[in-house]
Amino acid sequence: MQNKLYSLIDKLEKEHSLSPDEYKQLLDGRTPELAEYTAKKAVAARQAVYGNDVYVRGLIEISNICKNDCLYCGIRHSNKSCSRYRLGEEEILSCCEEGYALGFRTFVMQGGEDPFFTDELLCDLIGKIKKQYPDCAVTLSLGERSFDSYKALFDAGADRYLLRHETADPELYKKLHPEDLSFENRINCLKNLKEIGFQTGCGFMVGAPYQTNSSLAADLKFVEEFRPAMCGIGPFIPHGATPFAEFKAGTLEVTLFLLSLLRLMDPSLLLPATTALGTINPTGREQGILAGANVVMPNLSPVSVRKKYELYDNKICTGEESAQCKSCLSRRMESIGYKIVTARGDKKPFNIQLKQEGSNN
Ligand code: SAH
Repeated sequence: MQNKLYSLIDKLEKEHSLSPDEYKQLLDGRTPELAEYTAKKAVAARQAVYGNDVYVRGLIEISNICKNDCLYCGIRHSNKSCSRYRLGEEEILSCCEEGYALGFRTFVMQGGEDPFFTDELLCDLIGKIKKQYPDCAVTLSLGERSFDSYKALFDAGADRYLLRHETADPELYKKLHPEDLSFENRINCLKNLKEIGFQTGCGFMVGAPYQTNSSLAADLKFVEEFRPAMCGIGPFIPHGATPFAEFKAGTLEVTLFLLSLLRLMDPSLLLPATTALGTINPTGREQGILAGANVVMPNLSPVSVRKKYELYDNKICTGEESAQCKSCLSRRMESIGYKIVTARGDKKPFNIQLKQEGSNN
């Protein structure tokens, strides 16, 4: 049985594809030894494409105002104890200025679904950032919008869009979201983003309430078929003011194993070691890199709002200045033999299609 699992890892390394049942067998049969074997191969695969470089993205949390009521999320609309804010244009531009000086060449603007951020306002802002920093990439992570809205943002110069699919299991999707949000629309948004030309990122939470290994296997298969430029995964962490307050957090071990599997699935995938991973374990992000991740996303938001962008309890990096966050992460990466680079950090080509054609798939 164990030998079978090791050969599945070898197969994933060579063919970058497994069946949902094979992914599930790996998740069911995970042992520390299997995880170590997988991480070693994942690091080699990442090394071949990116060497020891780690890409950084400056995360600017532009608003915690949200019209949605996702059951897991601390900034959900019905959380009355959340103190709401939104950043103005000047504040966002000054985060970029500070970030640029610190060596960031990607700015990620993330927020709740705040209707204040109209296409017009965002397009104007994106235009200003791109004009001032033509060597930087702009990433948006602002939830579900229409095709036309995404298109306008892309035409204004945005390069990338992160929209986690959250789960590829439609039944689980319903348990995690209110009735007015649908799995179909989420997936449709992702397809639109890709069609428009964004470098698109999907992703999911690990250990979300009611999640099973079959749901996680569906997530892996979804990522494999969608072939995103980026994939953000991190443990679910409960937030005390949500309906999921009493659920347990996802684990470090499962998240690390999934990072390794995703790396073998696509050696050039942009794969962050997330803040949530650093929250459940003090060296979670370092361990994420050592499992195959190649991106970190230090916080560039003004310190005054950081505690308010509380998606889950005990989120780290809410007290430090941006410069401290960047140098802390640089040190952490150096401590494990990696280095943060000053670059846009686009996905490097890795032609999976050709490989598959070559192997008669
Ligand atoms: N409104 C945007 C950004 C959401 S916040 C959007 O819809 O895409 C970014 C991500 O944080 C979410 O996609 C979700 O996967 C994650 N997240 C939210 N609540 C969380 C929690 N309690 N634990 C871990 N991750 C969480």
